Amino acid sequence: MQKIEPKKIKDLRMRQGLSQQELSRLLGISDRAISKWELGYSQPSANHLIALAQIFGANIEDFLSTAETKKEEIQGMKSLVELFKIGKGPSSSHTMGPERACKVFMEQHPEINEFQVVLYGSLAKTGKGHGTDKVIKKTFSPFPCDVVFNFTKTDIPHPNTMDIIGLKCGIEIIKARVMSIGGGSVLFENESIVQTPNIYREHTFSDIASYCKTHSIRLWQYAVERENPDFWEYMNRVWNVMKTSIVCGLEDEGVLPGGLSVKKKAKSLFLSQHIDESAETRENRMVCAFAFAVSEQNASGEQIVTAPTCGAAGVLPAVLYYQQQKNGYSDRQILQALITAGVVGNLIKTNASISGAECGCQAEIGSACAMAAAALGELFLLDIEKIEYAAEIAIEHHLGLTCDPICGLVQIPCIERNAVAAMRAINAVSLASFLWDSRKISFDKVIKTMKETGRDLSAPYKETSEAGLAKIVF
Ligand code: SF4
Repeated sequence: MQKIEPKKIKDLRMRQGLSQQELSRLLGISDRAISKWELGYSQPSANHLIALAQIFGANIEDFLSTAETKKEEIQGMKSLVELFKIGKGPSSSHTMGPERACKVFMEQHPEINEFQVVLYGSLAKTGKGHGTDKVIKKTFSPFPCDVVFNFTKTDIPHPNTMDIIGLKCGIEIIKARVMSIGGGSVLFENESIVQTPNIYREHTFSDIASYCKTHSIRLWQYAVERENPDFWEYMNRVWNVMKTSIVCGLEDEGVLPGGLSVKKKAKSLFLSQHIDESAETRENRMVCAFAFAVSEQNASGEQIVTAPTCGAAGVLPAVLYYQQQKNGYSDRQILQALITAGVVGNLIKTNASISGAECGCQAEIGSACAMAAAALGELFLLDIEKIEYAAEIAIEHHLGLTCDPICGLVQIPCIERNAVAAMRAINAVSLASFLWDSRKISFDKVIKTMKETGRDLSAPYKETSEAGLAKIVF
């Protein structure tokens, strides 16, 4: 494991206003253990580190020593495959992670055809609303699976913990404890955290742009140079899933699950054309309908692509699908735009955050808007400076946006917000193509600002459903 900086544990604890005793109670360990960590006499285990990150609303990287962090940054970025994840919504930790855990368990134990899953902590408390049980049952289908919500057990290694049990004639044969650690990633107990390699050397827009200029290539070509040979195939799958979620979302009707009685609106938006509708109004209506379609599929627990997250999954597909329908861009051109968006999203993920729990909605919808603006810039064959400016405008005007989903469901304000961000992305590209030579703020600077703003946002506005719109009770 990489070295933990003792002072960082103390600083984060103090920032949360917790005493050593209070933190020790939350972790279910002695306060002497906390004191030893903060003095550098011992280090937290991987499980405790994950729990600390959850309690402090921080990243695991935030605990690493500065030297280690710098080394990590200098190494570059991970594959875009880790950014664009295919899975079932509405939440990377509550549906994608459990789905992945069940699939891995089934692969490891092909002889088992009867299952039970016990959900603990946050998975138990908000699992019904997120449809965690439905996703688990669907994943094991056609085999039977009983899902149990355990609300009382507190001595768990991570707030999102689950036990997957393989049965034979109702008797337990094998059991695995798994933690859904965010972004759709899972950690099986007793396994160490496996860090995937950074396949990109660069980690700033300015470095990437100068590489592209030196080699006379576009951003998507730069990414293809660094990704594995099966990358095109994967991105093709990504685009197909995005298109499917739009098509299915436009056909869907009824009410979203979770109890808020939110009606699905993509179909009615798509069909409600006025006789005297202008071209601009039609464009807005279409783009919004596509964004609603994906976001409603996400909220319904259907398959989507994180772009960069489940909650913000509708922005990028909406603008690209609209352009393909309107101007007949080929799938190959769309993939090039998608890869360009991926480079932008990866830079934000690496240098700041794409998590609402960490930096508020600016990190989810703001990032999605920047990705969509960059994708459009590529589709319109804009210069790299204009693409950078479009992405910068898109994120700059989302700075400070809070994450306050009502009842913790990814519905209000999330679905509408995807539609608004898709339209903003279109405006950002348009503005960038006129004003690019007068810009003052680089994309790298705005990412840094987003990270700092996210740190300064108070905790209730970071996916806790304790403040803002989430205080409204229907
Ligand atoms: S409000 Fe929160 S949950 Fe909803 S899209 Fe924004 S970051 Fe995601």
